[in-house]
Amino acid sequence: DTLEQMRIKYLGRKGEINRLFKELAKLSIEEKRIFGNELNKLKRILSERIEKIRAEMGSGPRPRYEPLLPGRTTHIGHQHPLSRVFKEITTFFEHHGFALKTGPEIEYDWYNFEALNIPKHHPARDMFSSLYIRKDLMLRSHTSPIQIRVMEKQRPPIKIICPGRCYRYDPFDASHSPVFHQVEALYVDKGVSFGELKWLLKEFVRYIFGPKTRYELRPSYFPFTEPSGELAISCPVCGGDGCTVCGNSGWLEMLGCGMVHPQVLKNVKISPQKYTGYALGMGVERVAMIKYVIDDIRILYNNDLRFLEQF
Ligand SMILES: [Zn+2]
Repeated sequence: DTLEQMRIKYLGRKGEINRLFKELAKLSIEEKRIFGNELNKLKRILSERIEKIRAEMGSGPRPRYEPLLPGRTTHIGHQHPLSRVFKEITTFFEHHGFALKTGPEIEYDWYNFEALNIPKHHPARDMFSSLYIRKDLMLRSHTSPIQIRVMEKQRPPIKIICPGRCYRYDPFDASHSPVFHQVEALYVDKGVSFGELKWLLKEFVRYIFGPKTRYELRPSYFPFTEPSGELAISCPVCGGDGCTVCGNSGWLEMLGCGMVHPQVLKNVKISPQKYTGYALGMGVERVAMIKYVIDDIRILYNNDLRFLEQF
């Protein structure tokens, strides 16, 4: 039994204690006296303990316990649904060769707008309800400035995934939050095509929402892509029949994408004659809300354990 194994390991003829006794020979007479004494004490304590345990285990009934008492529950930590979705999205892109890049949350107007083909007074700026710190300095309203920062420093091929926190002057209601998260992907190289983007989107929808989910790519508008598209997936709640979550349309819009606008490439001194690229971006909250059928974005930030423990 294990107790006997313990005894042999420490107190047996070739055990640890005897090994230490042999070591004594190397010491001076004075040291031998002190360490010898200690070793004898240790040997006595160990034998006593083993004898005691053996006596307790030996005869008589096993320790009593009450089989009907409820057991002790262990509280296991959960990953926040947002962190889970974040991880899933970035993992997908990393598997497809995209490198993770981040950038500052306080940005220059140039990176947040100007370089992305949204000059001053451009009506598209209204889409972003930005929070300004100074005239030229703001809290970034999307993660696209990271793309500009990378393209300024690096020459194609560029294949990056940029996750991050974004800020907008939005009300805090069921579908808006002034602070939210985005993930963007960018691929610039010779001969990058819209077809590749479509293929990647198909794989992405399968990976995140499962193989049965249908998707639809519709034309859209963004100043920094041309042509631009919007990906919608079949509503996971009703399966496309129509319900309150999808507003009876059967579809949920999920991400924006398109081919990088030639002007954006020019702005970072990459030749649009030589290179093309695609970009796509999505709100992490939105993906989490679609995936886990959450109808109020605020639940994601309330830290209510009754909600969080479901994940
Ligand atoms: Zn629905």
